[in-house]
Amino acid sequence: MSGTPQIIRTVREMQAEAGRIRSAGKTIGFVPTMGYLHEGHLSLIRIARKRADIVVLSVYVNPTQFGPNEDLDQYPRDFKHDERLAAQEGTDILFYPADKEMYPEGFVTTVHVSELTDGLCGVSRPGHFDGVTTICTKLFHAVRPDFAVFGQKDAQQAFVIRRMVRDLNLDLEIVVGPIIRESDGLALSSRNVYLSPEERQDALSLSQSLKMAESMIQDGERQASSIIEKMRALTDSKSSTRIDYIAIVDAETLRPVDLLSGTVLIALAVFAGKTRLIDNALLDIPA
Ligand code: AMP
Repeated sequence: MSGTPQIIRTVREMQAEAGRIRSAGKTIGFVPTMGYLHEGHLSLIRIARKRADIVVLSVYVNPTQFGPNEDLDQYPRDFKHDERLAAQEGTDILFYPADKEMYPEGFVTTVHVSELTDGLCGVSRPGHFDGVTTICTKLFHAVRPDFAVFGQKDAQQAFVIRRMVRDLNLDLEIVVGPIIRESDGLALSSRNVYLSPEERQDALSLSQSLKMAESMIQDGERQASSIIEKMRALTDSKSSTRIDYIAIVDAETLRPVDLLSGTVLIALAVFAGKTRLIDNALLDIPA
């Protein structure tokens, strides 16, 4: 689409540019990412592009949302690739801060959302959501967007950010874009590059078990435990997979439900080899 995005590396410069854009009466749409862009990220840029005058994309692998035994050091990074794809989608500004810019010496502040972060990914990734909510707050203050676009792929993250924005009266709207998948159903993720061919095949069990759950619900099943049991059996039947969790929760509280009703989130995290993958489906249960 348009030319190379403007690259901004400091918070001060980003805030100044955002100020100029806003004083000119233009709107800012913001897409925060950890880079290594794929179609999932690009779909969010397109949503922002449709609604905003200026699209800001951030690429920042945020260390505080990784646990000590997680993949921070191996996380894939390719700035030239990201810059090229961002340009193709008509990104205006690429915000690309360094660690010392985001976490200068003496940094001691954390934004914590309780309750919604207790279950699901919060169990096996303690501290993860504190890292996410803290960095998003910082990014929102740097970019000063009218709205920010997140992916339904990280369903719990989107819920947590929405609630944080509401609870803290942050002056922006949160927009959530649908999950983008490969043609065989695997949800796109920067981490998919870690998968061996066998793990890539076994990883289909995530989307397949969600599909199976949806069809059980269509056939009238309302007992969460029966659905989870079948999803577990399907996922366990693959040799390289190990289940972290499979849960069916209320879409408002993110607490497990026994009997499905209203809007529910079916979410799962599964290791394929050493790679932790997540997927989910948000469903309105027919009465
Ligand atoms: P990440 O770079 O993994 O932190 O992701 C940045 C944003 O892209 C988050 O809001 C993710 O939810 C979103 N995202 C990642 N994968 C997908 C996907 N397959 N479909 C839609 N959004 C996605």
